[in-house]
Amino acid sequence: MAANNDQQNQAGRHQEVGHKSLLQSDALYQYILETSVYPREPEPMKELRELTAKHPWNIMTTSADEGQFLNMLLKLINAKNTMEIGVYTGYSLLATALALPDDGKILAMDVNRENYELGLPIIQKAGVAHKIDFREGPALPVLDEMVADEKNHGTFDFIFVDADKDNYLNYHKRLIDLVKVGGVIGYDNTLWNGSVVAPADAPLRKYVKYYRDFVWELNKALPADPRIEICMLPVGDGITLCRRIQ
Ligand code: SAM
Ligand code: CA
Repeated sequence: MAANNDQQNQAGRHQEVGHKSLLQSDALYQYILETSVYPREPEPMKELRELTAKHPWNIMTTSADEGQFLNMLLKLINAKNTMEIGVYTGYSLLATALALPDDGKILAMDVNRENYELGLPIIQKAGVAHKIDFREGPALPVLDEMVADEKNHGTFDFIFVDADKDNYLNYHKRLIDLVKVGGVIGYDNTLWNGSVVAPADAPLRKYVKYYRDFVWELNKALPADPRIEICMLPVGDGITLCRRIQ
């Protein structure tokens, strides 16, 4: 009962300031997918999405609406040199590769090559594999190496971070040097399955609970960083865009 009252109070607070939660139901989300996303999803992305759906870890994939969002964002900012940390079977990677010009580049990192190679034939068939430089292994040492060489500083237009949440702040410390002023870093899953607002005693899956502390920490640190402007969007599982300003 107390929880219900709390929910009503929260809803009331939203309404007072004229806000409405946009996605009130699964049906509304389905409506977005069916009216706006699936009809315009490029054939290779559809193929990769369907292949990934059969994989046991499919919960990790970027959703189709977020893929469409990333593709649009990259075109809007005219991104050419990009990075992705956390590839899995490559749905967001393909969304990126399709958005970049023919001489665009993506430095893509993942500790698991096998999953990347599941999706690779589709990426090759789409004619965009030449834009991808895939590195197998943990991303942090690669970033350290890049940061050590000043000529890499300020060279990336866009960086998508979608890997180990307990390292996001470690990534941020390095990525802020590598992204150009005016460039964008996107941190994915910043609403962490809605758990960021779950009550202390909510029954959360173990991994959700473990990583939540790190997501909270990131969500506190980014707004306090004067080198970036930020915007947290409720797309997918939440994405926080950070535009470097200094
Ligand atoms: N962006 C992907 C997509 O669109 O399907 C989803 C990425 S999935 C949520 C997270 C990925 O991060 C996994 O494939 C995992 O192997 C990778 N990963 C975990 N720790 C990592 C690390 N330290 N360095 C690089 N990749 C890592
Ligand atoms: Ca994600």
